[in-house]
Amino acid sequence: MKKVDIIVPCYNEEDMIDMFYRETVKIVNTIENYSFRFIFADDGSRDRTYQKLIQLAKEHKEVKFLSFSRNFGKEAAMYAGLSYSTGDYVIIMDADLQHPPALIPDMIKGIEEGYDCCAARRSTRKGESKIRSVFSRMFYNLSNRFTDVDLVQGAVDFRIMTRQMVDSVLSLAERQRFSKGIFAWVGFQTKWIPYENVERIMGKSKWSFWGLFKYAIDGITAFSVAPLRTVTFMGSMISFLAFIYIIFTLIQTFVYGIVVPGYVTTLCAVLFLGGIIELSIGILGGYVARIYIEIKGRPIYILKNTNIELINSKHKEE
Ligand code: UDP
Ligand code: MG
Repeated sequence: MKKVDIIVPCYNEEDMIDMFYRETVKIVNTIENYSFRFIFADDGSRDRTYQKLIQLAKEHKEVKFLSFSRNFGKEAAMYAGLSYSTGDYVIIMDADLQHPPALIPDMIKGIEEGYDCCAARRSTRKGESKIRSVFSRMFYNLSNRFTDVDLVQGAVDFRIMTRQMVDSVLSLAERQRFSKGIFAWVGFQTKWIPYENVERIMGKSKWSFWGLFKYAIDGITAFSVAPLRTVTFMGSMISFLAFIYIIFTLIQTFVYGIVVPGYVTTLCAVLFLGGIIELSIGILGGYVARIYIEIKGRPIYILKNTNIELINSKHKEE
């Protein structure tokens, strides 16, 4: 009997927990030779998610929960789930049923075919706003050009991984986690399963436009220093142009004498350079901020309560 842990990050999902559990158990019960355990990571929910989980855990012994002291974000919830998991395989999926449990048997099949990982990919973006789709496509193009990791269009955080891959993911101990990039960075053979986008049944998405924008910037700066190289390149180009312009002006001065007008040129140059300098400082600052946060070495999450016994688990002290 192979053991599979299903990690479910939950933030304000009181309406979804029961339905999620019911639907998912229905599917996993049809799979033979594997035993499933649920690890719900309650990410500091403000509603009754925690009480729901305690109740569920009372009724079903294969239900485990981790509860945070406050909201630390989905990345932290996934990380906590992974570090408490002990199964031979680990599945990560959302609590809102936007990750169809019906894909789990196919994912297990992928693993049996010898893949290290089997992940879902949205083939459509039905039900998503136009702007979000455009920006998301832009992000993938940018990030694939700028970083060494190749992100797959439409990839979601719904996947099964072998223990070996999970341990590799955990070995990347960075505080600011960008899982899509981390999964790609650790390598291993991934099988992609396309599926139709599913709309949320209840509750609402926790992402705001700005939240996603920040996440995208974090994603790129976490995996690449290309933006730094870009500003260096920009700086050298501008210096080069300025040099040519100086020579040109010198010659002009020698030939025609000093010409007084030049106010607009000066103003343009000052504004343009000012803009470039601010941009460069901003980009540089972004990296310094990352160093600052990493160097403080704060824990990724703070656990308030769990029903997982530490004695039997492989959980490593951080
Ligand atoms: N989530 C979380 N912490 C957060 C935000 C979200 O654990 O701070 C969980 C949420 O409960 C859900 C999953 O992450 O299970 C995906 O969230 P959501 O549905 O809001 O994202 P979307 O599907 O819109 O990308
Ligand atoms: Mg969702």
